Order: sequence, then structure tokens, then C-alpha cells
Amino acid sequence: MNTLYGLIGEKLTHSISPLIHSIIMESTNINGFYHLFEVEKAHLETVIIGLKNLNAKGINVTIPYKQAVMPYLDGLSSEAERIGAVNTIRFENNTCIGYNTDYFGLHYTFERLEVTVSNKRAVILGSGGVAVTVLQYLIDNRVKEIYIASRDVEKLRRDRRFNSYNLISYDTLKNLDYSNLLINCTPCGMYPNINDCAVDRETVSKSEAIIDLIYNPKETLLLRYASELGVKNINGLYMLVAQAIQAQKIWNNIECNEEQINMIYEEVKEKFR
Ligand code: NAP
Repeated sequence: MNTLYGLIGEKLTHSISPLIHSIIMESTNINGFYHLFEVEKAHLETVIIGLKNLNAKGINVTIPYKQAVMPYLDGLSSEAERIGAVNTIRFENNTCIGYNTDYFGLHYTFERLEVTVSNKRAVILGSGGVAVTVLQYLIDNRVKEIYIASRDVEKLRRDRRFNSYNLISYDTLKNLDYSNLLINCTPCGMYPNINDCAVDRETVSKSEAIIDLIYNPKETLLLRYASELGVKNINGLYMLVAQAIQAQKIWNNIECNEEQINMIYEEVKEKFR
């Protein structure tokens, strides 16, 4: 029988996780079926218990439940604990342990871009769920300075996760003389709002490398500015694929080196049009 895997979230119609996981499972000889579970918040605990009882091996978790699932878990990996959010659950011996594989997806993205974090000045755009993961990754990798740009700086000053960093408005960001890394953690520019961009071209020109976590469209306006200006850049598809591979590593103890990750990524990129 095929082992059960899946994704729980609120609205999953446009999810490409089944495509990504089917490609990973096929190329690593894992037998399994990856199902989408649209869940109402009131049913979250029941669904997790149900999946455990159905002998599911693992599930991913997406918006808006990355924090909401945490009370129903038996333990957390160290990165999930530090970030305070879970996007992957492993069921084993009647327990469920939470992980955060976005963190590892980001790691492989930096490697793919051939950019290091240590001693750099980084700018994070936005203060939502994934921004917290990015922030933790930068701290763990000894970034020198962190600026977080937000539409509501006052709100961030009251938030313990952010208030010890440089919190700036988008107007103040325009006056920043340079950034080594700029990471877009907002939905600005995501389909169908493809003409939106959180920052202007001038700000992009003062950056050395840009990561846009959006993957639809493949080239956001932000990344178009970066390419036109010769600034190193990458979209969010590599992170999405690498975090899914990390989840399969956790569920199935598989090995997957950089070359295999790149092959899987190329196949996903080809099929995701
Ligand atoms: P989220 O929790 O909704 O947070 C998005 C943040 O962006 C908000 O907290 C807000 O911060 C800012 N924002 C929202 N609307 C904005 C607007 N119109 N203009 C400027 N800023 C705006 O979302 P998330 O889960 O962090 O995800 C953010 C993006 O990353 C999404 O596009 C998502 O698809 C992508 N993502 C990609 C991956 C991947 O693997 N590639 C993984 C996770 C997420 P302020 O209120 O502080 O301005």
C-alpha cells in the first residue's frame, strides 16, 4: 500500500507541493501518495490525530497553521523551536515531532546563489511567518546587521521577535546607502499582482544579492530590476523544492546531495509552467 503524506492548510487549490513531492518520490524510489488536506481551524487537532491513526508518515503544514499546530505536537526540532513555527511533521511510534524545513530550503538557496551570510548587512522586507524563519537563519549564520522593512514599524517595536533589530519604514529604506542581501518576504509582486514591487529600482541597485521568496511569476518585478542592474538574484522555487526534499529526508532518512537537489529542481522548474 502507498504510504500517506500530505499538506494541511486552509486554501490549497494552487499548491504545487503534490507535483514537487511526486517528482522527489519518483527520483528517490519512495512509494507514497501526497494528498492535500484543506482544514478548518476548529478541526486541526482532530485532523492531526486522524492522520496519526491512519499511519501517515509525515505531513507539511502551511498558512495559516504553522504556529497553530504546535500545541498538538509531542516535540520540536531545535530550529522549529527557535523559529516558533512548524511546516513539517513526522509521525513515528505514535508521536508527532515538528520541524521547520523552510529554514533548510533557505540554506540551500544561499548555496545555490553562492552568497554567504556571515558579516553581511541584510534587509528583510515584511514581518510575516517566513520573515521570522529568514531572521533566525541570518542570526544563526552570524550576519552583521539586520534591517527589517515594514509598513507598520510601530507594530514591530511591540513585537519581541523583531524589536532588537533595525526596524525601518519603506521610506527610510530608500535612504539606506547599501545592503549586501535583500530578501523579499512580502507577497508584493506575486501573481496576479505582477506589477507590484515593495521597493524601487534605486534600492535594488544598492544591493549585492536579492532573494525573492515568491515563485509565481518566476521573475517578479523585483527580480527583473535585479537582472537588468546585474544584481545576483534568485526566486523562491529553489527554496520550495529544497524544503520539500528536506521533509522527505526527515520522513524517510534518505540521502540527497546537491547534485540530486539540482536535478529535482530542474524537473520541477520544467513542469511548473
Ligand atoms: P505572511 O505571514 O502573510 O506575511 C507577509 C508579510 O508581508 C506581512 O506580515 C507584511 O509585513 C508584508 N506585507 C503583506 N502585504 C503587503 C503589501 N501589500 N505590501 C507590503 N508588504 C506587505 O506571509 P508569509 O508566510 O510570511 O509569506 C510571505 C511570502 O513568502 C509569500 O509570497 C509566500 O508565498 C512566500 N513564501 C515562499 C516560500 C518558499 O519556499 N519559496 C516559503 C514561505 C513563504 P508588514 O506588515 O510588516 O509590512
